[in-house]
Amino acid sequence: MTVDRTLELSELSVECDAQPSPECFAGAILPGATLGVVGGGQLGRMFALAARRMGYRVAVWCDELGPATECADHVLVADYQDLDAGRKFFSNISAITFETEKLPVSLFQAAAKLVPVRPGIPFLEMSQNRIREKTGLQQAGLPVGPFHVVRSLADLEAGIARLGTPAILKTASGGYDGKGQIRIEANSDLGDVWTALGTNEAILEAFVPFVDEISVVAARDASGTCVTYGPIHNTHSQHILDVSYCPVELPEVVQSRAIGAATKIAETFAVVGVFCVELFVLADGQVWVNEIAPRPHNSGHLTIEGHVTSQFEQQVRCLCGLPVGSAALVRPVAMANLLGDRWELGQPDWERLAGEFPDVQWHLYGKTEARRGRKMGHLTVTEDAANAAVIKVLAARTALTR
Ligand code: AMP
Repeated sequence: MTVDRTLELSELSVECDAQPSPECFAGAILPGATLGVVGGGQLGRMFALAARRMGYRVAVWCDELGPATECADHVLVADYQDLDAGRKFFSNISAITFETEKLPVSLFQAAAKLVPVRPGIPFLEMSQNRIREKTGLQQAGLPVGPFHVVRSLADLEAGIARLGTPAILKTASGGYDGKGQIRIEANSDLGDVWTALGTNEAILEAFVPFVDEISVVAARDASGTCVTYGPIHNTHSQHILDVSYCPVELPEVVQSRAIGAATKIAETFAVVGVFCVELFVLADGQVWVNEIAPRPHNSGHLTIEGHVTSQFEQQVRCLCGLPVGSAALVRPVAMANLLGDRWELGQPDWERLAGEFPDVQWHLYGKTEARRGRKMGHLTVTEDAANAAVIKVLAARTALTR
């Protein structure tokens, strides 16, 4: 069933310049306007919360009800290919963004006839496909690990002959949190691997012997001013982000390579919006780009409490053609994800958390069904030093377990 409440928007929409000048903020979209976001997950929810705090109305287009819809003023539940529903949605918003890259580009091509789409469609398209992304980054002169394009078993055999093992075969599109990836060892049967991946387009990556995984979140406004957060240090558990903290104790040269990569991506691809670049740090100090998320990122959730302006407020500012806010660190900060696994024995012990950790912030995304590996929320804590913040956020998460 399609729930369409966008009609209510018609009186509320604010006229805006569909193509604001990149040179100035003259066409800025101001509070009172309605901002569109496509996708109904937690990133859309946190965008909506930031936008509403800043006085905007929010319209969410999703294909099923989710965390974002609870915090929206208007909701369209419709297939993302349903451009008839889409046109009505676009005509009642002032600008549009997205909270996931797994969306049809045709939706944004139709939207772009009526409202600004930020970040732009080429950047979205590039980050939807690992081959386009790695190739685009390499052509832009950014450091990436060795890779090989695979469209057949013969390609896979040639790629393994070139890159060696261990290596990781990833579907070109659609994978996330380690899904759509197979690690190949010296004794792996390549025919079985190719069949198991079940795709006709993949990328083979040499296994990168990284010593650290870090990310940089960047926000670039319509005038070209770019601010960055981080580097943020990330640890994963079962391919899912587990703990992030900032600032990191890495040599100055490593930090500036990471920030430099984010800035170069922002400028090369003329991004207007927020994105995240995930990076591998090698033992010799090299920094290689792993992948890009063309939107706020899980590792940037710590900016809500840790920084002057959160990644979600920056998303609102950039979307509206306003200048970016300060990305200065307020206090060293750590974030720990809460996965559905923690709900296996029932509700976590929120009373204990509230009583024993009065300085820990919790965020829940309003998901009613807790599945293994599903991101249900996160905890954040600020301290005088990042390692103290990590220790406290982990202790707080343990206290939730009954
Ligand atoms: P991805 O979905 O590409 O971000 O991969 C998820 C995680 O798998 C990364 O955060 C790394 O921990 C690991 N990983 C991905 N690609 C590689 C690689 N080429 N070499 C080593 N580890 C990798």
